Amino acid sequence: MKRVLVVDNDRLCADLLADALANAGYLVDKASDGVEAVERLRAARPDVVILDIVMPRLSGERVFAFLKSRAETKDVPVIILSGTLVEDRQKLLGLRADAYVAKAHHTAVRQNVLAALRHIERHELPPAPVLGVDGLLPRAKVRELVELREYVQALLDAVGEGVVEVDARWRVVCANRAAVQILGRAESALLGEPSALLFGEDQAPALRAAVERFLASGEPPAPLELKFRGRVVTMTFAPVRTPLTGGAYFLVLQDVTDLAAKIEDLSTLNRRLQDMDRMRSELLTMVSHDLHTPLTAIKGSLDVLLHESVGVELTQELLGIAQKNADRLFRMVSDILDLARIEAGRFKQRREDFDLTTCLRGTLDRLGRLAQDKAIGLSLEVPDGLAPIWADGVRMEQVFTNLLGNALKFTPRGGRIGVTVEDAGRELLVRVWDTGVGIPAEHLDRIFDRFYRVPLPADAQVEGTGLGLTICKAVVEEHGGRIWVESAAGKGATFFLTLPKGEEGRRAGAGGPAPPAA
Ligand code: ADP
Repeated sequence: MKRVLVVDNDRLCADLLADALANAGYLVDKASDGVEAVERLRAARPDVVILDIVMPRLSGERVFAFLKSRAETKDVPVIILSGTLVEDRQKLLGLRADAYVAKAHHTAVRQNVLAALRHIERHELPPAPVLGVDGLLPRAKVRELVELREYVQALLDAVGEGVVEVDARWRVVCANRAAVQILGRAESALLGEPSALLFGEDQAPALRAAVERFLASGEPPAPLELKFRGRVVTMTFAPVRTPLTGGAYFLVLQDVTDLAAKIEDLSTLNRRLQDMDRMRSELLTMVSHDLHTPLTAIKGSLDVLLHESVGVELTQELLGIAQKNADRLFRMVSDILDLARIEAGRFKQRREDFDLTTCLRGTLDRLGRLAQDKAIGLSLEVPDGLAPIWADGVRMEQVFTNLLGNALKFTPRGGRIGVTVEDAGRELLVRVWDTGVGIPAEHLDRIFDRFYRVPLPADAQVEGTGLGLTICKAVVEEHGGRIWVESAAGKGATFFLTLPKGEEGRRAGAGGPAPPAA
């Protein structure tokens, strides 16, 4: 006995046909619309399908396409049943169904369907391409409706947004081209699927919650933003309020990945602008406080020299003050210019084969006099035969001058300062330590921020801009290394920095001239 699936939303027609088929010995199953037909076809394979074409929501044509797209059902013979076989003839014949029966009078329909079934069973061609078409008259309105449906479909496929239509039971009945692209599945795979599963199991709870909110409130849920297959997609709900489609919905999908990336770029830019704005006001504060003092000293000395007659000794002393303060100004301006280059991303380095041991010895020598004045002992421990590293010598010297200069500034008389270098495999680990005043714990994580200085007692006169460590960090990181500090109030401070050796160093960051071949 053959199993026949009758798909028709016209109940009377479906029932009459089903009775006639049952009387003729067929086992009949019915689907009252396209979505139900898709469900039935997924559940079991019938021997024959009798398919109405004009149905609301999921049309017979789409059910036909679904059936032909699946290996399990593509060979199932289909008898197309349609009232528009006059107006829509060419297109429907183009589907290449096994038989066509015009939907005219019920009696004729029953006879023609049974005749078509017999021909199919005997593997014969039906006597005419369309059975019973003489019972149909061309109707202008029907032609218009058929065209309108095609027009809507073309429009849906043309829009850039993905449009998924779901029925009152929230099952997919249509997905346009853009939706298929966004969801990454053919329309036939989406048909009849619960809409909550459109974006996979991961997103199902969020979608279900949105649907439930909608069912409870009757108001379309707010658009959802979903991460799906590496893209960002927004989903907007648009109700279709026509009596025939009652409860149906359009889900409008938009791939906003590029937009989201642009928004991210803009907020990064905005953060940078805010940073620069903050730096501008920090700079103004610094200029008004720290640059003012040496300038006042220089101006004061020059005023006295110009307007008063002073002896040789006082002249020497005043020139000495002016020179010391001019040096101080020079250092501050250099730091500010370096910071400006760092901020603008123009902190270029000129790498070369660089001998760390020589650099450290030279820096310690230059600071020797100052250390002697404060009776501070200096020491250096470097492993023998340390190979050169690929680094910018001038910048490296600047780093160690800053670190050792700080150690000298913050270590009282009689203290000790030292540098040790350790070969730590792929990198060198340098420690710059002192037995000075140390840094209280609450300041440790801000110490590398620009302009940041640990507040000192009002009477303590320690020169500085709060930029030295910011510059050290930028230089070390540009070389592919890291810098950090360990310290506690009254316990001295140790600055650690790593510098990549050999090939690692050559690969790290932007280089200067090309390294010579090994
Ligand atoms: P500057 O020395 O010009 O103030 P830096 O950026 O070099 O700026 O240092 C920032 C701050 O970190 C210093 O003002 C000081 O408070 C603290 N600091 C740096 N090195 C030491 C050190 N060796 N011992 C104690 N405090 C230090």
